[in-house]
Amino acid sequence: MEQEKLYQKISTRLGELKKLAPMKEDMSIAQLLDEKGISRRDFMKWAAGMTAMLSLPSSFTPLMAQAAELSDRLPVVWLHMAECTGCSESLLRTDAPGIDSLIFDYISLEYHETLMAAAGWQAEHNLEQAIEKYKGKYILMVEGGIPAGDSDFYLTVGPHGTTGREHALKASESAAAIFAIGTCSSFGGVQAAYPNPTNAQGLSKITNKPVINVPGCPPSEKNIVGNILHYILFGTLPALDAYSRPKWAYGLRIHDLCERRGRFDAGEFVQEFGDEGAKKGYCLYKVGCKGPYTFNNCSRERFNQHTSWPVQAGHGCIGCSEPDFWDAMGPFEEPLGDRLYSTLYGLGADATADKVGVALLSATAVGIAAHAAIAAFKGAPKDEE
Ligand code: SF4
Ligand code: SF4
Repeated sequence: MEQEKLYQKISTRLGELKKLAPMKEDMSIAQLLDEKGISRRDFMKWAAGMTAMLSLPSSFTPLMAQAAELSDRLPVVWLHMAECTGCSESLLRTDAPGIDSLIFDYISLEYHETLMAAAGWQAEHNLEQAIEKYKGKYILMVEGGIPAGDSDFYLTVGPHGTTGREHALKASESAAAIFAIGTCSSFGGVQAAYPNPTNAQGLSKITNKPVINVPGCPPSEKNIVGNILHYILFGTLPALDAYSRPKWAYGLRIHDLCERRGRFDAGEFVQEFGDEGAKKGYCLYKVGCKGPYTFNNCSRERFNQHTSWPVQAGHGCIGCSEPDFWDAMGPFEEPLGDRLYSTLYGLGADATADKVGVALLSATAVGIAAHAAIAAFKGAPKDEE
């Protein structure tokens, strides 16, 4: 019954969006898919995957497909602050664009400094026009940390020499929804690493408006597009965790669904890169994997059209979607060892998932030794601490 009501509610919202004029009259999603050689069948498979990713019942797949088709109805303003542009680049520069990248091509990007042809006065004018024309209706996506306070001037944008902070604040005022894309915009990122000379901050620290954080260095294309689709479907904020990350994407740890998890539980660890354990796909914890402390969906959704992800490729997770990861998670190729690391859900974040891991992750040296002892006792390969 609840499901039916929700289905109806979303259908009504999509029906309203459909009445709005498409912003790209010369392009439809069907044409775009056709041009790229993507069949309708593959598009529906993708829609089914996105539906599952947002934890919706599979019967909602047609609604998801419709939401993608209507993604050109909502204007998007994308600002760059202090960052490397890696979040945009990772989404746009794939040599075999998946449907997620195509959706990004299809949405109505009214302003994006990396992609637009305009520069200088013209660019500034375009931004002002977009904000005025779509007041209260546009989605604002901000990439990059923002120098704040006395350090505002470390980032100036455009011919008026507006500070990044002023720029972001002005665009935030009239936005319908605000997304901080990437770890820099969510939490300050590498700019905010000690000693943070520019006093870089996440977007939520400089505006009073609600900000949905989509961290990652970079965030996966699925998490960026998934947030846009969620907004199109519901028109409201998703359920968020204490760091304002959508729970549908950041609700579980990397460790929870990692394909090497069985190795972890069996005490089978890579001791150094290139050893026998590495060849056999052992757990990467002892060469620095921060998956047990990191909330993100990489182990489930993967990257590059679901082909692979860092742990599959043989390197541990470096914890890129957590606040202050540059300071808190380093050195990246060493375990946190016996340092206590407090995550969102407490020390080690492991209260429910694995009882052995509770000890292991809050006092790793002791835990790993225990695992090794258990493994040795069972006759499994022994790992030295
Ligand atoms: S520690 Fe890393 S490699 Fe090992 S199971 Fe957890 S996430 Fe996977
Ligand atoms: S595996 Fe870890 S470091 Fe890599 S993208 Fe995911 S959260 Fe970031």
